[in-house]
Amino acid sequence: MDRDNGYFSSTIPLNTAKATTPGVHEPDVPAVQPTSLKRVVSGAALKELLAGGGPGAQGKTPACEDNEFRAYSHSEIARDAATIKNSVVMHLTTTFLRTPDSMDSGHAYLASAFSVRDRLLQRWNLTNEYHSNIGAKTIYYMSLEFLVGRTFDNALLALQLRDEYAGVLGDVGFRLEDIIDEERDAALGNGGLGRLAACYVDSMASSNYPGWGYGLRYRYGMFQQQIINGYQVEAPDCWLDSPNPWEFPRADVTYPVKFYGHLVRDPEVSYRYKWESNVVYDAMAFDMPVPGYGTENVGNIRLWSCKTNGLFDLNKFNAGDYQGATGGQVAAQILTDVLYPNDNTNEGKELRLRQEFLFCSATLQDIIARFKKTGKPMTQLPELAAIQLNDTHPTLGIPELMRILIDEEGLSWDEAWDTTTKTFAFTNHTVLPEAMEKWPVPMMDKILPRHMGIIYDINLFFLQSVEERFPKDRELLRNISIIEESNSQQVRMAYLACVGSHKVNGVAAIHSDIIKQTIFKDFVRIQGEDKFINKTNGVSPRRWVNECNPDMSRLITEAVGDRSWINDLTKLKVLESKVDDKEFRQSWWEAKQKNKARLAEYILATTGINVSPDALFDVQVKRIHEYKRQLMNILGVIYRYHRLKQMSAAERTKELHRVVVFAGKAAAGYWVAKQVIKLINSVAEVVNSDEEIGDVLKVVFIPDYSVTAAEYIIPASDISQHISTAGTEASGTSNMKFVLNGGIILGTVDGANIEIGEEVGEEQIFFFGCLAHEVDEFRHYLRFHQPKPDEALQAAFDMIQSNTFGDAHIFQPLIDAVLCGGDVYLLTVDFPSYVEAHKAVEAAYRQHDDWVTKSILSVSRMAKFSSDRAVQEYAEEIWNIEPAPVGKSTV
Ligand SMILES: *Cc1c(COP(=O)(O)O)cnc(C)c1O
Repeated sequence: MDRDNGYFSSTIPLNTAKATTPGVHEPDVPAVQPTSLKRVVSGAALKELLAGGGPGAQGKTPACEDNEFRAYSHSEIARDAATIKNSVVMHLTTTFLRTPDSMDSGHAYLASAFSVRDRLLQRWNLTNEYHSNIGAKTIYYMSLEFLVGRTFDNALLALQLRDEYAGVLGDVGFRLEDIIDEERDAALGNGGLGRLAACYVDSMASSNYPGWGYGLRYRYGMFQQQIINGYQVEAPDCWLDSPNPWEFPRADVTYPVKFYGHLVRDPEVSYRYKWESNVVYDAMAFDMPVPGYGTENVGNIRLWSCKTNGLFDLNKFNAGDYQGATGGQVAAQILTDVLYPNDNTNEGKELRLRQEFLFCSATLQDIIARFKKTGKPMTQLPELAAIQLNDTHPTLGIPELMRILIDEEGLSWDEAWDTTTKTFAFTNHTVLPEAMEKWPVPMMDKILPRHMGIIYDINLFFLQSVEERFPKDRELLRNISIIEESNSQQVRMAYLACVGSHKVNGVAAIHSDIIKQTIFKDFVRIQGEDKFINKTNGVSPRRWVNECNPDMSRLITEAVGDRSWINDLTKLKVLESKVDDKEFRQSWWEAKQKNKARLAEYILATTGINVSPDALFDVQVKRIHEYKRQLMNILGVIYRYHRLKQMSAAERTKELHRVVVFAGKAAAGYWVAKQVIKLINSVAEVVNSDEEIGDVLKVVFIPDYSVTAAEYIIPASDISQHISTAGTEASGTSNMKFVLNGGIILGTVDGANIEIGEEVGEEQIFFFGCLAHEVDEFRHYLRFHQPKPDEALQAAFDMIQSNTFGDAHIFQPLIDAVLCGGDVYLLTVDFPSYVEAHKAVEAAYRQHDDWVTKSILSVSRMAKFSSDRAVQEYAEEIWNIEPAPVGKSTV
């Protein structure tokens, strides 16, 4: 690739050397007369003409006859400082109408970001052109969440232009770090599931797999968490208020999505229908380029947004009925306003269902439109497309594909079903019964009448096939039916996803075993063991080491000899040989201390609390949920506070100093979780202002947990807590991030903690608590016996009940859940070993030398937890796709 060209430059001439021979080029489709287009052809027909069929398809336009044009688009923008400066200034002056003299850091960020985006979009084009030319099979990762965080720094690192931009910005008086801080996180996710999706598209791009993410573009994200008087308060996250350089609107990629209406049966084919409805919304695509690291490949996340202009009622408006005129627009727009609208109400549930369908329908139409350009028969779809369902939220994609194939493409039921099941695969993320998605049949029938019919038929044929093999087993049929025969019938989405997919996977070894023994037990018997597999989660080494921990990354690069470890974590092995290198050990320790100092600054800025980087940093950051047991953590803190208060001042000086950090959002409708946040903040207020305690113990709740917050917090942890009740955390991914950053885990024998322990060795992890196979028995016992807190836990309860942290009544329900509610999450069972584990951590941390050894050894053994490994396994065992690098490697 030629690097000598300016792309967005008025002063640097084009290199036209390769494009001087004027080529005769036959356009793929006959040129259309512009006059006839303008005057005669209607908008819809025009679209049809340009698209060469296929509603809303991107369109087959006549190929370019100008080679200079093509060469221009193919030659990479030069990487020198002058070109960069030039393009930043171009954007500053022409995209943002500023002058260099009136440039603040906000505009410095925007102009720089747009100049980086130019490069990404160019590579985006080349990648997609290439993959389409070679007919590459593509993986489509469907997820209602993509927790991507910031993009600017990530893109600079991927393009290996960080130093260049730092230089150019430095010349005009800006620090790159400050400019990076101007970016707002893309608020498109909630927790681990959304971050997993983001890590996977990052790995697909970096490993050269043709892969796209599909999701929704939420105007207000989930919510922004504010802490007011200790309570969580939700505010809209207006992340799109300023220009977003990282998305590209595609007004030309729009699909109609229908709701409600009625069905007309095809007179010839009994199972074919026409679905007629007046409620039709347009879903419009926004593309977010995903840069691969060390490669020219750029992946994509395509997000749908409801387009509403067509719903504006001018007649009502002219009659003065302004609300009526815009009502249709509002009804459509709310579909892509908020992630996980509170579904405590019936309206909320319906909104959620329509949101999921908008997502699935637009995505499937888009995939089909792209496939149809190949001219191949629809039954060959699985040869060019694999669709992964990230949890059950996108399961409506299965009946939607069936509908398209049968009703629109004319396939027989059997052909359509075969094509569908070969295309889809499904990832299960939870065994919590309350998280199992179900939709009332009447609701589904009203909103999606055609899909309800298809689901009935899928179920009928499935049950018939089971009945043939297991005659007269009515219990079995009832258990596996996609339709649950409860008081109001419900559609079990996990079962639909399972039946409609060729592979089902869990996300850590223990979790994949558990789902085979619980929710999918009967399906394993019917469909065979081989369909149910494990794909242990992973995290991206680009974001979760190289970007968030520059000092440690420098040390690793030094040890490895180059940066190849960033795309190949097996290289971390060499760190093991450094474990006795005194100088290296010292630098390792210093890197951690520097990260702690950076977090201390962040804590001061976000909470006003002063903490000392010399203390042990003890961190639990994740969504607030009873199963994750932040309550047990804060009760442990209270017990520690109780002990400190009983000591003499002289005794206290011997205590290890500790900063306990919490962060995480509670779902807006999850009252208990929100009370836990209040308790944490109330304890923090009392402990932090207790002069007797001083720096011996500090408690911090960092508001509005996000990817960016995580990038500050994770590299600074000494110990992090992953303490879910055994068997409840499917995998966890922050546990991986923490260990990759040289932190040690204090955790239960659950999720990926187990595999991390296997890899890093028992010495490098602090396990405690009961085991997954013991949980049922304990729960059963506690249902009939009063739970008995040990002395330590009782001391913590007593302290709360004596109003130490404010009005005890506020917190009584939390205590009652343990003492009177059957202690479902087994706090009374695990608390004694939890306290012991903390003692072991303290003793170990006091041995600084051994601690550094643990830290280095852990990192050296973490290769398995790269999302590159995970994506490669999916590619080989589920998607059947291969890497297709566009150009040469750039590392
Ligand atoms: C990694 C990550 C999570 C997942 O954390 P778990 O502890 O695995 O639940 C959630 N939120 C953010 C912002 C993350 O980066």
